Amino acid sequence: MESIKQHIVNLRNELREHNYNYYVLDNPIISDYDFDVKLKELQGLEEKHPEFYDANSPTQRVGGEVTKNFETVKHEYRMYSLDNSYSKEDLLDWEKRIKKLVDGDVAYTCELKYDGASMSLTYENGKLVRAVTRGDGFQGDNVTANVKTIKSVPLQLKGDYPSKFEIRGEIVLPFDGFNKMNAERIANGEEPYRNPRNTASGSLKLQDSAEVAKRPLECLLYNLTGSNLVVSTQFESLDKARSWGFKVPDVAVLATSVDEVLEFVNYWDTKRHDLPYETDGVVIKVNNLQQQEELGYTAKAPRWAMAYKFKAEQVSTVLNEITYQVGRTGAITPVANLEPVELAGTTVKRASIHNADQIEKLDIRERDTVFVEKGGEIIPKIIGVDISRRPLDSEPTRYISECPECHTALIRTEGDAKHYCPNYNGCNPQIIGRIQHYISRKAMDIDGLGGETVALLVNEGLISNYSDLYELTKDQVIPLERMAEKSAENLINGIKASINIPFERVLYAIGIRYVGETVAKKLAKHYKSIDNLMSASQEDLEQVDEIGVKIAESVKLFFASEENVNIVNRLKRFGVQLSISEEELEGQTDLLKGQSIVVSGVFQQVSRTELKKLIEDNGGKVSSSISSKTSFVVAGDKMGPSKKDKANALGIVLLSENEFLQKIIK
Ligand code: AMP
Ligand code: ZN
Repeated sequence: MESIKQHIVNLRNELREHNYNYYVLDNPIISDYDFDVKLKELQGLEEKHPEFYDANSPTQRVGGEVTKNFETVKHEYRMYSLDNSYSKEDLLDWEKRIKKLVDGDVAYTCELKYDGASMSLTYENGKLVRAVTRGDGFQGDNVTANVKTIKSVPLQLKGDYPSKFEIRGEIVLPFDGFNKMNAERIANGEEPYRNPRNTASGSLKLQDSAEVAKRPLECLLYNLTGSNLVVSTQFESLDKARSWGFKVPDVAVLATSVDEVLEFVNYWDTKRHDLPYETDGVVIKVNNLQQQEELGYTAKAPRWAMAYKFKAEQVSTVLNEITYQVGRTGAITPVANLEPVELAGTTVKRASIHNADQIEKLDIRERDTVFVEKGGEIIPKIIGVDISRRPLDSEPTRYISECPECHTALIRTEGDAKHYCPNYNGCNPQIIGRIQHYISRKAMDIDGLGGETVALLVNEGLISNYSDLYELTKDQVIPLERMAEKSAENLINGIKASINIPFERVLYAIGIRYVGETVAKKLAKHYKSIDNLMSASQEDLEQVDEIGVKIAESVKLFFASEENVNIVNRLKRFGVQLSISEEELEGQTDLLKGQSIVVSGVFQQVSRTELKKLIEDNGGKVSSSISSKTSFVVAGDKMGPSKKDKANALGIVLLSENEFLQKIIK
């Protein structure tokens, strides 16, 4: 007779197979009733024999684990965005750029772009160990307990899977399930959900995984990530993933030209309406993974992939009023307040109009009937006016000349499309906006303090700039609306903890115009302390890699203000990191300063990413194509022949991996 343990294992395997047939292949071979009977049997046995517990048992799919705070997890491999294209010309341009950077013919995998919540799943020895949301691309939330309840996500793989890898995909909510959920909500007198995509991503953040288990979510996979993946093309990797038990839609095709890519796009532009879930375009990927490596990434997206968006949906509606918002930099943004209208599954009430030029160019007026379009952005935009429906007494829009908040006269400098309120220290939305930026997740990431509380603190006169945060006391904040002893304590602790945030993020947080995350990193790395940065001249700043006149001027302007210098000095006194720490300095040298280096081929001792980091840590710049400005090439195995020829023609030195590593050893 088989042992209890063996019986449990057999039941698990059997149920796994049925799950797979049902949820991945859409081809069940037993009835729901029989499945339930077997599942109940397994549940009973597992309860009686807790010693045979398995976190990946099919019984775990029903959920029950409650997550109060989702743990933040750093992605081992960053989750990038995709560049967008909208026309054949865009695609041809892209192809031209690619062909400059890689050797040989280029083929493309064409896939659909699923519109849901992106997800990264990590498998070790065939078991799901972690599911993390995309977050900001660098780090996301650990939502493993919730994702485990999604039946098309295999908890245990089959076949010849690598021992460790990540796989990426999209969690979607098919229309059917979405409509069923809404029917139930309406029957219960609840507001229906707006669209499947937001409902899918909202579901992942529910605290009770048993609730998630009830939602008919699906996980569609499209990308293997990791080292030693045993595949050499994207197309092959889709096949492999499918064989390991993942749900990989079989719509992908291989194309060898932009024309073939467009055939795929045109076909799906109409056919997609028959799909059970939402898609918003096509993703085109260079098929050869070696070529993908060669192409690498820009600051935001892979060079080897391109999204092609299906035509956005449009509607027309009446523009009731144009209002004006003041941002944290004082920039004025006109906002169109619309007669509410349904567009691509959401009710639209507002649309953005970029600036005064836009209003003038399209001659947008209040009471006009306007065309509104929704692309990938959250806020839709106005793309035109239906002049035939313009009221007879309509008059052109007169752009405001005063700040709507503090009534200071607006300024607009040459070459700037936006108007600005120059009242830096006295304009409320700017004061509040700067502090909100300071505490935001990518900046000082202050736990326990939100944007609304910042507004309250400013309006109550408790703070007027971000350095004031560090002097707040618990007694001062407790009387605020919706504050309690505990939340006040969290707030104060969160502020205290922020003094450990590294210099590069502080530099981003203090809100110098045009100094975004990437620029802040560059400046921090180059100057190493705020004092060095403050005393740098305009010319010196412009010498820094990727820092142009505009940014240099803005940095000078920021520190020309006595007020700003005072605030920075106060931050320093409170212990905020205003220079690179010892640890960060370690391993950083100037050995490759001023050198522009190209990395090509495959490496043995360090990964390509590590190699690039080594170059940057030693003060060098990684460049993607060989030119007369290239200092040298680090050439691994399988370096492309045309790159080699180019380097030779220009007389550029090729260093082997070893030679390079020798070079940077101090
Ligand atoms: P975007 O957010 O518009 O920059 O588009 C990038 C996102 O598209 C990625 O983060 C993925 O979540 C999503 N996506 C959907 N389908 C695919 C696909 N087949 N390949 C790659 N990314 C996809
Ligand atoms: Zn103002």
